[in-house]
Amino acid sequence: MLGAPGRVAVILRALNLGKDYPVRGSRRPLRALAGVSFELDRGETLGIVGESGCGKSTLARLLVRLELPTTGTVEFDGVDLTALSGARLRASRRRIQMVFQDPYSSLNPRQRVGAAIEEVLRVHKLHRRVSELLGMVGLSPAHADRYPHELSGGQRQRVSIARALAAEPAVLILDEAVSALDVSVRAEVMNLLVRLRDELGLGYVFISHDLSMVRHISTRIAVMYLGRIVELGPWDSVQDEPLHPYTVALQRTMPVPDPELASRQIDVPIQGEVPNPAAPPTGCPFHPRCPLAEQVCRERRPPLEELRGGHLAACHVAARMTAASPA
Ligand code: SF4
Repeated sequence: MLGAPGRVAVILRALNLGKDYPVRGSRRPLRALAGVSFELDRGETLGIVGESGCGKSTLARLLVRLELPTTGTVEFDGVDLTALSGARLRASRRRIQMVFQDPYSSLNPRQRVGAAIEEVLRVHKLHRRVSELLGMVGLSPAHADRYPHELSGGQRQRVSIARALAAEPAVLILDEAVSALDVSVRAEVMNLLVRLRDELGLGYVFISHDLSMVRHISTRIAVMYLGRIVELGPWDSVQDEPLHPYTVALQRTMPVPDPELASRQIDVPIQGEVPNPAAPPTGCPFHPRCPLAEQVCRERRPPLEELRGGHLAACHVAARMTAASPA
């Protein structure tokens, strides 16, 4: 099951997405993404977490069709984005907006804030709603006359969100959108995102390297490793009873406020570095770093399969243990 249990309406569907990049001097491409599939419902937040180099940002670019996938499709509201071009692509793409980590580089430093939002409004033939949009993100109409350097980091990210909302999207792809902010400002922007999601019924794909950030906002969580989803499930199930050793290892980097939960955590130290995606390991891509690795892990790649209600993982050992444990 790639979507949430008891779902209402799928707005975004990634099916078997893969992306290869050529490597100079080599016939083997760099496989940045392989076989990624998931569904996002209207108003749902899917958190995507993984270390840098795991393919999160490649996935974000494919979802908004900044790039075409090597394999697979992206469906938005039932329409295959990878098959569209021209006006139909622009019309669909308007409804999936992206917010990047660094608003300073995505905003034009010589353009006033109001003009930056107006630009999107003009492109999409919408009315002048700058003050309203600034109000929606907790800024005043006076901010429209400021330049990005006159704003704080948190205010700049609010402008980026207002700019994305100007296109009246159904889905926002948030790629490390709060990672660069101070802790207190980050909490404010996260609260803003939750409010906007609930008020406007937006779907979010919330991408971060930090599991603690993802779990605060997500309905479901997908954990990525070396271009693949290795665990996918409801956030509480992934948080309280992770199935994949890599998710357990990611959790160890987070403070655990609940002592009972802390005592239930398996102590799985993560070893070594992320392998080179141009030469991925055989079998399970996590096996060189996995303290639970067995011979089968070096030989066969485990499929991503449902091991508990709505909770999927790609791990031979987890599959055996869940099959052995009473339902
Ligand atoms: Fe570790 Fe094996 Fe599971 Fe991969 S399949 S995560 S190597 S136990």
